[in-house]
Amino acid sequence: MSNYELYKHCVLCPRACGANRLEGGRGFCGEDAALRIACACLHCGEEPPLTGKAGSGTVFVSGCSLRCVFCQNYQISRYGMGRALSGEEFAALCHLLQNKGAANINIVTGTHAAPAIAGGLALARAGGLCLPVLWNTSGYESLSTLSLLDDVVDVFLPDLKTLSTGRARDFFGAADYPAIAAAAVQAMIDAKPLSFSQDGALIQGVLVRHLVLPGHLDETRTVLEWFARYAQGRALLSLMTQYTPLPNRQPETEKPASLPERFVNEAEYETLLRWLEELGIEDGYYQELEPGSAWLPDFSQAEPFPGGLGRCIWHWKTDGAVALV
Ligand code: SF4
Repeated sequence: MSNYELYKHCVLCPRACGANRLEGGRGFCGEDAALRIACACLHCGEEPPLTGKAGSGTVFVSGCSLRCVFCQNYQISRYGMGRALSGEEFAALCHLLQNKGAANINIVTGTHAAPAIAGGLALARAGGLCLPVLWNTSGYESLSTLSLLDDVVDVFLPDLKTLSTGRARDFFGAADYPAIAAAAVQAMIDAKPLSFSQDGALIQGVLVRHLVLPGHLDETRTVLEWFARYAQGRALLSLMTQYTPLPNRQPETEKPASLPERFVNEAEYETLLRWLEELGIEDGYYQELEPGSAWLPDFSQAEPFPGGLGRCIWHWKTDGAVALV
């Protein structure tokens, strides 16, 4: 069976909608079988071993199978900004990023499009792509879909958002997220031992990301304890404190009462640093505390990232087909 046949009765993610996406059906992720991309950027906001000199070659995929209520990329994850690219165009986009000096190819939230992306990456490799490929994911991954990526992905960047079924239900309507994400992260760690280049770039391995939710530090404590117990020494941790409230950007009816409406404060930040020390977590990164909306992209703009955080190389609105070079 071709990987594209997987779109026929789609169970690519744990939502397992069963939509026939080859016939135009759409499941929870909101996407049919077309691979749609919002933009490709040289992004300087990733962790140091991923950013390199010119930035990580981030490719933002339209649609999402998790759709967190606090998603900063809601324009593409929820509202579908983007345009369709063929497998050849996707491969050409990877080559374009490589030619512009990208440190890697960083596929953002591509789970629901894994067959098309795997096919496009194989084409790109055959055509000369030699950069590490990163799979930047919510962590809500089925093991069978991960197996499609074995040969084309070098580094996994999974979120581990929460290990609480209640929070997972409130914030993404997926009470099974904790068990599924924990198993997926374990499988990624087993498949990709850490490896760095001579100049310190991460060329294989797993970097687990956790976004701290203001007022919900109990979630973070649980995730840190999990990491210390199951992943320490075999993966990197990235503790993110960039949570940004999104006033006027979400329907009020979709906001759970427990959704934070503020930034991480200094007292919480100090607690986080103390916990990292207490748990002996040293392999990884944490962000500086910088309250503000500097991280919020606007994918309707030709340069979606504010403050020089990224440089757009291709944009769904302003650029057309990508020619194979
Ligand atoms: S990838 Fe989309 S259609 Fe397929 S199971 Fe997940 S949410 Fe449903």
